[in-house]
Amino acid sequence: MPTRAPLPMNPWLWSRTLGETHAAGLDPLGTGVRQRDARLAALLAAAFNESPFYRQRRPGRGTALPRLDQVAPVEKAELMQHFDDWATDRQISRAGVDAFLREPAHLGDAYLGRYLVWTSSGTTGEPGIFVQDEQSLAAFDALDALRLHGGPATTLPWPAWGGLPRYAFVAATGGHFAGVASIARLQRMADAFALMPWLVPKVQTFSVQQPLAELALQLQAFGPTVLITYPSCADALAQAQAEGALQLALSEVWLGGEQLSAEQRTRIRTAFGCRVHNNYGSSEFYAMAWECAEGCLHLNHDWLILEPVDRQLHAVPPGEVSHSVLLTNLANRTQPLLRYRLSDSLRFLPGGCACGSRFPAIEVQGRADHTLVLHDAQHREVKLLPLALATAIEEGAQVTRFQLLCTAPDRLELRFEAGQPDPDAAFGRARAALHTFLAGHGLPGVRVVQGHAPPLRSGRSGKLHRVLLQPGPTRRRGRAAP
Ligand SMILES: [Zn+2]
Repeated sequence: MPTRAPLPMNPWLWSRTLGETHAAGLDPLGTGVRQRDARLAALLAAAFNESPFYRQRRPGRGTALPRLDQVAPVEKAELMQHFDDWATDRQISRAGVDAFLREPAHLGDAYLGRYLVWTSSGTTGEPGIFVQDEQSLAAFDALDALRLHGGPATTLPWPAWGGLPRYAFVAATGGHFAGVASIARLQRMADAFALMPWLVPKVQTFSVQQPLAELALQLQAFGPTVLITYPSCADALAQAQAEGALQLALSEVWLGGEQLSAEQRTRIRTAFGCRVHNNYGSSEFYAMAWECAEGCLHLNHDWLILEPVDRQLHAVPPGEVSHSVLLTNLANRTQPLLRYRLSDSLRFLPGGCACGSRFPAIEVQGRADHTLVLHDAQHREVKLLPLALATAIEEGAQVTRFQLLCTAPDRLELRFEAGQPDPDAAFGRARAALHTFLAGHGLPGVRVVQGHAPPLRSGRSGKLHRVLLQPGPTRRRGRAAP
């Protein structure tokens, strides 16, 4: 058995971070901007003095630290390639992290006795490995506690009446992903309060990869008051609730990880009869923006900088939709992210938001894959969530740049992006992983074929949807749940 190594928690750091985040919430343009500038200066100093990777890329000569706009944008593949030179803590190594991640029981444990490690999956591109130091975790906790509920408020993250909430977290499991690793860390912290169980909210993780009917049974047995998941999953559960197959008494639904459409929001809110909170985050920064009462996303600009850019990585003006964004994470000086390209397109809303918050208002596009509805041998409909399908392929076949097209209710076509090494071998692995996944959902008869055309791209944004229903006449035969 591996030794359990819970993360340390410095109460002074946590309370200072909570206090600063609260102060920035009261005055985003004054205190918030001053905090942002001070954090940026400290981050640039740490990166260019202590990270060999950034030292090598230092722009200009002389002793003055470079400004952020002088720093060349960086891609995930580049950082993964230079992993051993990247961190400012020189004990962090790819070999060490890989050995740590190989052990599933290490989920939520402390790497090197002081870091939480997670990997990206189920979204886009190469998997990334991200090492979170204590300051980043304190910042994420402060942002969750103070802003997740729709704005800088003084309310607790759970209601004061009716006992403690019960959180059901439905996500991709089976790896060290950001969501499950964060929940595992919270459970470790809860264990520390084992003598005072009435103080600790119940949190349970459920796998999004399992058949929806089983997921519904497990959720019903747990009886959550708060459901935390992806929009496509909440939407499918909302339909089960509307049909009477599920009877959850929820006080809130928290969503993230995919784009939330207005129709999904209405269906989820109507079925569960409760508030829906959307948020925007990524493996690179867990809590980038929160949703206000007007349904608008507000950027946590005291803890991160987002620069919307075009295809050539030039800045786009406010109001214009970007091709991607450059992220600077102000919370983590251990594994610095400076102008790191995220493939999300978004725009800054120039007029601000009717809620009155001075945190920048943004609108995020993309990441709206389809939920597929396939037919089993008895012609019954079986719903498959896009993130579960993508995770099955990624984890089972170790491929990331693909597109799964539903061309008929019993046929899936897998395409790879140009540059996939040995696509035939990759397809063989992916097909085996998909067959296992499909059989687990009562769909052993679904055919999986290899497509040789390039993946379809969305007309407006040019984004790659990884799981989608083939557009055109086949829509009458197969269909995508919205
Ligand atoms: Zn607002």
